[in-house]
Amino acid sequence: EVVKPYKELDSTKKEQVAQMFDKIAGKYDFLNHFLSLGIDIWWRKKAIAELKSIQPKYILDVATGTGDLAFQAIETLKPEKVVGVDISEGMLAFAEKKIVERNLQAIFSVKPGDSENLPFEENTFDAVIVSFGVRNFENLEQGLSNIQRVLKPGGKAVVLEFSKPTMFPFKQLYNFYFFNLLPFIGKVFSKDNSAYTYLPESVNAFPDGDKFTEILKRAGFVETKIKKLSLGISSIYTGIKP
Ligand code: SAM
Repeated sequence: EVVKPYKELDSTKKEQVAQMFDKIAGKYDFLNHFLSLGIDIWWRKKAIAELKSIQPKYILDVATGTGDLAFQAIETLKPEKVVGVDISEGMLAFAEKKIVERNLQAIFSVKPGDSENLPFEENTFDAVIVSFGVRNFENLEQGLSNIQRVLKPGGKAVVLEFSKPTMFPFKQLYNFYFFNLLPFIGKVFSKDNSAYTYLPESVNAFPDGDKFTEILKRAGFVETKIKKLSLGISSIYTGIKP
């Protein structure tokens, strides 16, 4: 099978998403920590802890962005090799910079790649990780099927993604922050008009909770599980390739 470079794929959402992340790449890490009050770091640690029991040697980080989930995996799990892919070369440039600063070139490499057409052979990785990426996929089921394809049998996928809190009155308070304050603060700091409006909209449109594990099952995963974090602001989903 010939894997097409993502640039040849004709899809508008994908191009728009890549351009949007290219634009905010320089402010991305700062805004992540600032807008989440640093909780995002703890969420990534919890997600990676899901892999402690299988001690993966070879890990793929899909939608790696500036690489933070992969860096956490390296610190916690001490794998032999981690590869990160993303459709935004702007984000990957910042990942590269951090790899060099941390002297991790021997373990961690990044390259352009689309979740829906992953440039790897089947049965390659012990674990595939994705944080705050799946919500942006143009075709979620295709992306998850691809992740399943490149995992080795018995391999584990860990997905960290925003979800929608349901508990009163936290839900109301959170929605006010997420839909009103956050887009404003994000716009001021990122100097991008749409990226931080897109964020709550994409979270709202995303099939979270049981709907997501149903899609994981359709993509061929078994033993799917959900763990809610921080009153349901985020969730960790896991699944195994049989
Ligand atoms: N995983 C990183 C983290 O936790 O900070 C980055 C998350 S960032 C919110 C989402 C990333 O998904 C962006 O860098 C974007 O370019 C990437 N992305 C969106 N759609 C993608 C796709 N189809 N394939 C690969 N990467 C994609």
